Amino acid sequence: MSDEPNPQDETPLRVAVIGSGPAGVYTADALTRQRRVPVRVDVLDRLPTPYGLVRYGVAPDHTKIKGVARTLRRVLEHPHVRFVGGVEFGTDLTRADLARSHHAVVYATGASVDRRMGVPGEDLPGSVAATDLVNWYCGHPDNDWDDFALDAEEVAVVGAGNVALDVVRVLAKTADELRHTDIPQTVLDVLAASRVRTVHLLARRGPLQAKFTAPELRDLLALPGADVVVRPEQVDLDPTEIGGDRPDLREVSRAARTNLRLLREQAGREPEGRPRRVELHFWTRPEEILGEDRVEGLRVGRTRLTPEGRLEGTGEQAVLDVGMVLRSVGYAGVPLEGVPFDTGAHTVPHEAGRVLDTRGRPVPGDYVAGWIKRGATGVIGTNKSDAAATVRALLQDSPELRGAVPAPVPLERVLDDRGLAHSDYEGWLRIDGAEADLAAELGRGERVKFRDWDAYRRILRGEELR
Ligand code: NAP
Repeated sequence: MSDEPNPQDETPLRVAVIGSGPAGVYTADALTRQRRVPVRVDVLDRLPTPYGLVRYGVAPDHTKIKGVARTLRRVLEHPHVRFVGGVEFGTDLTRADLARSHHAVVYATGASVDRRMGVPGEDLPGSVAATDLVNWYCGHPDNDWDDFALDAEEVAVVGAGNVALDVVRVLAKTADELRHTDIPQTVLDVLAASRVRTVHLLARRGPLQAKFTAPELRDLLALPGADVVVRPEQVDLDPTEIGGDRPDLREVSRAARTNLRLLREQAGREPEGRPRRVELHFWTRPEEILGEDRVEGLRVGRTRLTPEGRLEGTGEQAVLDVGMVLRSVGYAGVPLEGVPFDTGAHTVPHEAGRVLDTRGRPVPGDYVAGWIKRGATGVIGTNKSDAAATVRALLQDSPELRGAVPAPVPLERVLDDRGLAHSDYEGWLRIDGAEADLAAELGRGERVKFRDWDAYRRILRGEELR
């Protein structure tokens, strides 16, 4: 297919992208990179700050990954892309509103809520979602600021994904190690006063099945202030110890083999009496969170894989003396008003990025990208090819899309008709600048985040914060 503009297609195709995280911004990027169809893209976000999980999910000490914001920034600064902040799809604006102003809508709202473990005691105070801790240390403005006193000496993190490793690492680092990150100052103060000394990481299957990736595992094993304890019997793959047949290592992925090698090397090391300790427990699942008024312990059960690969308990149990349990067992998407949703998969049903209705037919003008499309998997870069695939489908449909909305009105008119105040990219740059100024004032790295709506609103109004 030629990438040259078709002179008959003079009316730009107007696309609204809901969500300014990596999936949304990569969608805008793919739309503006092609030259076949002229486009105008409005990227809407309910927050006045763009970049979604890059800002509010990537761990503060992962500065290299956070650097992707520089690439995303170039997209939002493209002359045919506009960032519109402070507008929530479903409450402020509906699909019917956007049908007046845009030919197509791409939902890129991610997966913002935690999954549950489904064990007794999960609602006790002190049992929290890792997503809440992540929101807290990333300074998400919707956070409840009284949540994390970090007054337990031992905590458990359940799950063997990269989010679990992020959470363990942040809890096991000293405040000094985190000082040059963008963590809000009040959060850094709580981390400095943290009484946490031992962090248990619970993986319900073995080292070969862990979801975390080698770079993140290496970061954990390299913590200068914490001994990472790996029990040799949990990484030796003896079938009588771990259950199931001895796996043929040639058949497992290279990534899993690397994890196994790193863990085996660590299992051979003696703890050095460092101030903090991280204990990795493979073949261990949570069975009950204990306590009357708050978490006082965690009953765990030993597991193994059946020859068919099914996880089962061995009947062996133990109690960990923890005062906090963080579940890090995956993220789930939330339904969007008026958009089909698969409640089992927590995603929007689609084919090649075209949203499908309950009868499996494409919903005209509706598309989906990122975690709300494929579930909470993959790394940030995965969203680039994912968004490009959605954009290919959207561009194929562009003649029908244009025909369906021959005279779109400007988004401003829709927002005005709704009486909606909103922020823009300039507003974000003011927040961005104020965070850099705060970092300079505190002598802390490149940025220190503001953490609440009030601060955002005051900066957007141009008020002095101090
Ligand atoms: P994840 O990779 O899906 O890991 C979830 C973990 O929870 C798995 O180990 C899973 O075990 C376990 N689990 C699920 N239900 C459980 C239960 N009821 N009891 C005990 N364990 C349970 O999810 P995630 O860590 O939230 O990460 C989401 C995505 O973001 C991933 O693609 C991840 O790579 C990405 N991410 C990347 C980075 C990075 O690149 N640095 C950082 C953070 C996140 P099973 O495997 O047995 O189901």
